[in-house]
Amino acid sequence: MTESNKEAAPGNPSNVPAKTMEAIVALCRRRGFVFQSSEIYGGINGFWDYGPLGVELKRNLKDAWWHDIVRCPAKGPDGNLISMAGVDCTIIMNPKVWVASGHVGTFADPTRKCPGCGHFVRADQLWDILATSSEWFASLLQEFTPVTGEIDTPRLIKWARGKGKKLAPNLALVRDPEVTLSFLATRVNGQPTAPPDLQEIVRHLATSQLHATGLQEPCPICGGALGEAKPFTLMFESHAGLDKTEDSKVYLRPETAQGIFANFRNVVDSTRVKVPFGIAQIGKAFRNEVTPRNFTFRSREFEQMEIEFFIRPDSAKEWYAFWRDARFNWWKSIGLAGENLQLREHDRDELSHYAKAGAGTSDIEYRFPFTAPGFGELEGVAHRTDFDLRQHAEHSGLGDKLKYFDQEWQVKLQGEGVAKEEINKKVKYFPHVIEPSAGADRGTLALLCEAFTPDAGRPSGVFMKFHPRMAPIKAGIYPLVNKDGMPEIADKLYMELRGKFNLEFDEKQAIGKRYARMDEVGTPYCFTVDSDTAKDQTVTVRDRDTASQQRIGIDKVGAFLAEKIGG
Ligand SMILES: [Zn+2]
Repeated sequence: MTESNKEAAPGNPSNVPAKTMEAIVALCRRRGFVFQSSEIYGGINGFWDYGPLGVELKRNLKDAWWHDIVRCPAKGPDGNLISMAGVDCTIIMNPKVWVASGHVGTFADPTRKCPGCGHFVRADQLWDILATSSEWFASLLQEFTPVTGEIDTPRLIKWARGKGKKLAPNLALVRDPEVTLSFLATRVNGQPTAPPDLQEIVRHLATSQLHATGLQEPCPICGGALGEAKPFTLMFESHAGLDKTEDSKVYLRPETAQGIFANFRNVVDSTRVKVPFGIAQIGKAFRNEVTPRNFTFRSREFEQMEIEFFIRPDSAKEWYAFWRDARFNWWKSIGLAGENLQLREHDRDELSHYAKAGAGTSDIEYRFPFTAPGFGELEGVAHRTDFDLRQHAEHSGLGDKLKYFDQEWQVKLQGEGVAKEEINKKVKYFPHVIEPSAGADRGTLALLCEAFTPDAGRPSGVFMKFHPRMAPIKAGIYPLVNKDGMPEIADKLYMELRGKFNLEFDEKQAIGKRYARMDEVGTPYCFTVDSDTAKDQTVTVRDRDTASQQRIGIDKVGAFLAEKIGG
């Protein structure tokens, strides 16, 4: 290392940022990873843009997934190479798809909004939620035990002025106990032979202007009187064609999975895939989240990387375990190792309706700064049984035509001497599905959070320690100074390698500043041409993580990068 090839002075340790979301978001904006969508207009809640470096990072993540899943899949638990096909389906599909998948039914329930705290609650679940998870309701119920059939007015007023004030500030009983209870007393005295039941009592306690509004129902969070029930769908709606009628209504897909199921028959008929095989897709999905939050973690437009892996019904257990572990290990392989990554098997009561009968569901979770010490979902791996294909068979009218005919299994069973009738029953079936469904934006965010490394030895107090395969820029190619033939040699090296790697060529600024900038955007290597290069055909290679330098032959740079970056 020559004298002039030294690092810039180390940073001021008091400038070292803590690893917080605030610091990560600030770096993302400063260095061009992530911007607020339409920022010049004040942004739009729940939407984010990737900048010049963010788009490279996210693309590296998606390319690695596509490469490892679709083009170069591993061997499965049966020892055979996994068979995988890719698709790229439209965002807008025939709306019947979303009826079959259950999204139109369950994503569009009548929902009521609390004007007091802004909370939304599904109308059909209100009393369930009150009974099971409303803190104030549980507390209020204590005032009714033992049930005597009488309303204990002083006791309720005491609750309203004490616990109620804290737990249910917007409940009519709390805001105006005398008036509210007088309505209730009128009701009880007016019909002494038909006393109100608990639900009616609670409705009274939620009503402050009985004659103007009629009986009202309370918000499970704050006790405020809930508004009218309105259908609130998580799916974004639009219209195909110029007529904006019910018939022309379409949806922006809330998941990419259904495009895969809808093409199951097409893929089987047009390729040579045989069960077990998978169909993979990367694409945008949209959910009109009630409360988008945590940077890009819960946004309204996001990108998924999904596999639907079709298997024989009797092999669900082994394939589920295989995909769960394979996907967990994949996230590790791209740099999310260590204590920030965990695999969590769902409890039975968290399972979705179709998964209850299945081999299991698990989440691969990352400890984001905003979930710490807890974890947030990165990818879900679920045994979806044959739920989706059966739904599409029924709703499309195709019925058994959507079944898969397993010729190999037929031959095998014949060889085993199984009775013909039994074989026929077995070999035409709706395949079961193991679904590893990952978030590309959440994955990108996890890579950003994992990479963020405070370090007093760096000028800006931080460097981004991306796995080399994920790093947006793989290497900087620099002449030490912008003279003495160095720029020409560096330029030649850059032109040789730029088709293979995403590189940066920069001949300006002091070398220490160039290194500092590459640290902050997470570039793992910098190759510098100096005064010795012309003599001995070597360059220095600087390692981002250790800031150490060594010399290698200029003709070895390409091989060096290929080996370090892998993939
Ligand atoms: Zn409320």
